[in-house]
This record gives sequence, C-alpha cells and structure tokens, in this order.
Amino acid sequence: MDLGIRGKKALVCAASKGLGRGCAEALAAEGVDLVINARGAEALTSTAQAIAAAHGVQVIPVAADITTPEGRALVLDALGGQADILVTNAGGPPPGHWTDWSREDFISAIDANMLSAIALMQALVPGMMERGWGRVVNITSAAVRAPIGPLGLSNTARTGLTGFVAGMSRQVAEKGVCVNNLLPGFHDTDRATALDQGTAGTEGISAAQARARREATIPARAYGRPEDFGAACAFLCSQHARFIVGQNLLLDGGALSATM
Ligand code: NAP
Repeated sequence: MDLGIRGKKALVCAASKGLGRGCAEALAAEGVDLVINARGAEALTSTAQAIAAAHGVQVIPVAADITTPEGRALVLDALGGQADILVTNAGGPPPGHWTDWSREDFISAIDANMLSAIALMQALVPGMMERGWGRVVNITSAAVRAPIGPLGLSNTARTGLTGFVAGMSRQVAEKGVCVNNLLPGFHDTDRATALDQGTAGTEGISAAQARARREATIPARAYGRPEDFGAACAFLCSQHARFIVGQNLLLDGGALSATM
C-alpha cells in the first residue's frame, strides 16, 4: 500500500535506536525526509547515514536532549520551524518504588515524557494547521492502559500526556491534523533488555530467564520488533489515517487481556 506521504518532512525524536529508529526507518521507506534526534552523536550519525543510504531520503541528525528547551530549539532550527509529521519520544523514567520518588523525580519524568511532547506539538502543530495537513504520533506506553508498578513515574507522566492529547487532538482535526498515541508493550530494544536485567537483579534469575518468563505472558509469545512498531507509526502518519483522531493504539502482542 502506498501511504501517500512521499516528500513530506518528519521530525522523529529519540531515534538513534529502538522504537524511534523503527519509526524513522518506516517513514523513510515511504519517501519521507527526516530530522532525527538523540543525545549521543555517534550512534545518531551512523543511524542517519544508514537510513539515508537505504531509502534515498534526506536525514538530518541533531544531537540534543529533547527534554530540554535548548535541545528542542536545536531540533526545531534544523526543521526550519516546520514539519508535516511529528513523532515524539524520549527515554523512559527509571523503575523504582512509589514510596521513594521525590518531587524532583516526578518533575523529571513529567518533563521528559509529557511536557517535551506537548512543547513540540505547540511548536509544530499550528504550522500543520495553517497548511491544512499534519500527523502527530506520540510514543507513550502500554502502562497508560495497564499500570506497571515499578514504572510509576512512567504511568504518571504518560497518562498526563494522554489526557492532553485526548482534548487537543479534537481541536485540531478540522484542519487536517491527526494526533494519536502509540502504546508499546514489550519490544526488543535496549530499554526492554535493561528492564529484564533489572528484574533479573531483583529476583535472582538470569536476564534470559526474565525475558522468557515475560514472553510467556504475551499471547504472541515474543517481544515486538522496532520494525513492527514503525509500520504502525507510518500508517498513522499516512494519508489513509485521516479519520483516526485522538486514539491510543496498543501494540503489545495481546498482553493486555481486555475486550476493548
Ligand atoms: P531505547 O532502545 O533505549 O532507545 C531510546 C532512544 O531514545 C535512543 O536513541 C536514545 O539515544 C534516545 N533518547 C533517550 N533519551 C533521550 C533524550 N532525552 N533526548 C533525545 N533522545 C533520547 O528505548 P525504546 O525501547 O526505543 O523506548 C522508547 C520509549 O518507549 C521510551 O520512553 C520507553 O520507556 C518506551 N517504552 C518502551 C517499551 C519497550 O518495550 N521497548 C515499552 C513501553 C514503553 P541517546 O541515549 O543517545 O539519547
């Protein structure tokens, strides 16, 4: 299926690896020019070169912390202040226990996983509305649908973003801008490996055992792949998604057992 977005320009945040890279690859495969971002310049540059070479699109890497105003300013500068497609993403907060989190811990999580995405939408969506077309995909988490106890900072911040999008997406749709959230369950990335290692440490098992145990709880019996995730993102950014507004698409291999 031709997604009809060849020649569009996208910002994909936190995209040198993992789910962000999966989204960047899938958009590039559809002929979308990219600005991609991550903090570490080396991995980011090599990802940008690999994507540009594989798909023949322009890929501009911007090494910056997307959770800071300075980092976002650099990224927006590279875009010339406008984009047709925005994929928001940032690293997730660390696991812990609800009794231990300080005000500062909450503020950091909210900055990274709620307010950064909102600031980028505030910067780029008005231009999309003026031009009469835009797509925004926020990478949130399955934790929005089913909380994960040790990831309470993530549960909290991402639910706030979800509430914001629920209202805002309905205020911009009449201008051709569709804003939706993609909710990853377990996917095979460094983040998942780190969480498995954490489980292994606290429970005295190996990381492989922790992973096998988690995979057994997923009806698809495997972690998702970044390319699976990217394909769903590219569809939400496509011409065909014009009637999908303010939705939360859970990609978890069926792990959440719920009728809806
Ligand atoms: P990952 O494999 O660890 O990749 C994270 C990417 O984000 C890297 O490119 C990293 O590069 C970049 N990054 C991290 N913090 C950044 C920042 N402050 N500014 C700019 N770039 C930043 O993680 P992932 O698995 O793709 O996860 C992406 C998001 O989905 C995270 O928020 C995670 O919590 C969430 N999530 C993931 C899963 C899963 O199973 N993978 C499940 C639920 C939710 P640098 O380190 O160089 O900046």
